[in-house]
Amino acid sequence: MDEKTFYSYLMVAWFALAVLSFILLFFFPAPYGRHMKKGWGPKINRRAGWILMELPALVSMPVFFFWGKASLSPVLVVFLVMWEAHYINRTMVFPFRLKGGEHRMTVAAVLLAFFFNLVNGYINGRFLFHLGPSYSWGWLYDERFLGGVCLFCIGMAVNQHSDTVLIGLRRRTDSGYQIPDKGMFRFVSSPNYLGEILEWLGWALATWSLAGLCFAVWTAANLVPRAVTNHKWYNETFPDYPRNRKALIPFLL
Ligand code: NDP
Repeated sequence: MDEKTFYSYLMVAWFALAVLSFILLFFFPAPYGRHMKKGWGPKINRRAGWILMELPALVSMPVFFFWGKASLSPVLVVFLVMWEAHYINRTMVFPFRLKGGEHRMTVAAVLLAFFFNLVNGYINGRFLFHLGPSYSWGWLYDERFLGGVCLFCIGMAVNQHSDTVLIGLRRRTDSGYQIPDKGMFRFVSSPNYLGEILEWLGWALATWSLAGLCFAVWTAANLVPRAVTNHKWYNETFPDYPRNRKALIPFLL
């Protein structure tokens, strides 16, 4: 089987698995953070877990970029910068900002996320830098590219600001949970997830590719069920939780 055929089969299977995960995650939230449960096997240090599970995404894109056939295209350089901007933060900055470094996460969650990042890195990196059509200079002025980059940047700002608000809460007490009330938290319970979903929707738009869409669908499949579960958890845990706050989409959901 040649790589293009393998890639097509993988893409179909990966889309199907995203739909299945979306459904399952409503019933079985990924075992980390406030949804960690007994019976999921051994645990490791949370900081090490985050670094390990995000590493394939951080490393794979530059590898595919330099290995690929079109490394000199300016559009591809922009895509590489966007991807790495997200993953340098997620792998090398975010884990060290987390409070409660002694907290642990399950090895099962780390392995699943490691595999998820490996496959997404391959699907996106291989498409952009080798298997897909080349992007001309003109793509830099295309509405889809410009709109996608803007959406990506807005999503990243919302995601990082919201992560910062949560980390700030933990700094005040160093343990336990509080009601976040800054920034986009005034509207939704999980604006960090909303930002992340917007980022990868922007990526899908800017790359105008099935590879990008597949990643956006997977991100939503992971984070929409968790946002709904988090929202329920907030409402059950805090009797004074703001009733008009939504789970993920302001005023809607
Ligand atoms: P959470 O919102 O569950 O937690 C983020 C951090 O804030 C954790 O340290 C958590 O502590 C702490 N925290 C959360 N809520 C509170 C609160 N109410 N009071 C005090 N501290 C709180 O996010 P995730 O860990 O699920 O995700 C982290 C980042 O990774 C997000 O930006 C997310 O978008 C991204 N992500 C992306 C995925 C993808 O598919 N692309 C998948 C999963 C995450 P504790 O750990 O103790 O709960």
